[in-house]
Amino acid sequence: MIDQSAAESLADRARALDAAALGAELHDRIRRLYPICRSITGDGVRQTLRLLGAEIDVAVEEIPTGTQVFDWTIPKEWNIRDAYIKDSTGTRIVDFHASNLHVLNYSTPVHGVMSLSELRPHLHSIPKHPDWIPYKTSYYEERWGFCLPHRQLESLPDGDYEVCIDSTLADGHLTLGQCVLPGREADEVLISCHVCHPSLCNDNLSGLSVAVTLSRLLADVPRRFTYRFLFVPGTIGAVAWLAGNEDASARIKHGLVLACAGDRGGLTYKRSRRGHAAIDRAAAHVLEHSGAPFDIENFKPYGYDERQYCSPGFNLPVGVLSRTPYARFAEYHTSADNLDFVDSASLADTVIKCLSIVEVLEGEGVYVNLNARCEPQLGKRGLYASLGGHGGARELEMALLWVLNLSDGDHSLLDIAEQSGFPFRLVRTAADVLGRHGLLREVAGAAHERGK
Ligand code: ZN
Repeated sequence: MIDQSAAESLADRARALDAAALGAELHDRIRRLYPICRSITGDGVRQTLRLLGAEIDVAVEEIPTGTQVFDWTIPKEWNIRDAYIKDSTGTRIVDFHASNLHVLNYSTPVHGVMSLSELRPHLHSIPKHPDWIPYKTSYYEERWGFCLPHRQLESLPDGDYEVCIDSTLADGHLTLGQCVLPGREADEVLISCHVCHPSLCNDNLSGLSVAVTLSRLLADVPRRFTYRFLFVPGTIGAVAWLAGNEDASARIKHGLVLACAGDRGGLTYKRSRRGHAAIDRAAAHVLEHSGAPFDIENFKPYGYDERQYCSPGFNLPVGVLSRTPYARFAEYHTSADNLDFVDSASLADTVIKCLSIVEVLEGEGVYVNLNARCEPQLGKRGLYASLGGHGGARELEMALLWVLNLSDGDHSLLDIAEQSGFPFRLVRTAADVLGRHGLLREVAGAAHERGK
């Protein structure tokens, strides 16, 4: 029997979505998450996961400082309450409460009065964009610092400044969030995004927001695969999850890292280390049939948490879906990656493309033609478009012929879509029609083997 429920429900769902309402939901979530000061540890991550948890089921895990995770150690937990630089009149000229980017993320505490020349080595700016505040971190080296617009830095008069960073760096925990949607099968699709950036929208709130909406939409449909959404601090969070979940990681058959998912650029897919995994082919297929500009790039061992998922000891089939990739937009890691930089329509488009990719993964399969010696007579089954047949009926008829011809137990539906040039959805529909007429049978397990 051909299994079509999940694929059809998803397709229906994607078609029925109101892109404007979807975009508003995605952007509004970013707006709510934007003010929170996140880092790789601390209350900012907890507060973020609590907000996500109001919309989807998020299980939170706390891993103590000092825990060894492969070659890494869970760091001390960082929290911050206030930070400022006051000039000689006592006026806050740099204020953490105006922008959390003003503090070098993970700064150790400091409080004192110092001259400009003593302060200067602790100040960071971007000369090329003199009005923007840079985002800087120092996770694994204990330092303190401030980030400010270059124009402001250049105009600081000599004199004494009161400097305060009211932070704590102490034993605590690293916080991870997971949302698992069980499917009929234990095999998993991983959707991962980093949750460690403070007030920056495209990198990383766009990925979080897309993942939450995706999770919400997938929760309502029948699912073949189990979907695991991971909300983890960059690098250390993914390393910690893999170290603690080797069994679950072995069930991941397809995966996507979502990052920089909301700017106005076209979509970019970065292949998994395997290069030709089902996720790589599904993503490429969706982008090629989207009618919009896109890029597909090969794997490289630099970027987001695919670096961990695609490390050779795991080599999971996990690619990255972005719009403009990190570091290729001027606003990257600056205060200009703000609420205006992310666009509702682009966010909605990323969700719809993710659903289309999922639709391919869910609907993929290998079949055999049960009437393989010469073509079956389609006319007597009502499957042959009349002589004047055109448009959709004619396309479906061609898709029926493709599926019948290539369903030899070796070619999958995605193979057939690629070879015929038809969108996967049409090929899937043709297979469903043929199945209902007793002309096609699924080869159990074959698609799984191919996904490995
Ligand atoms: Zn980043």
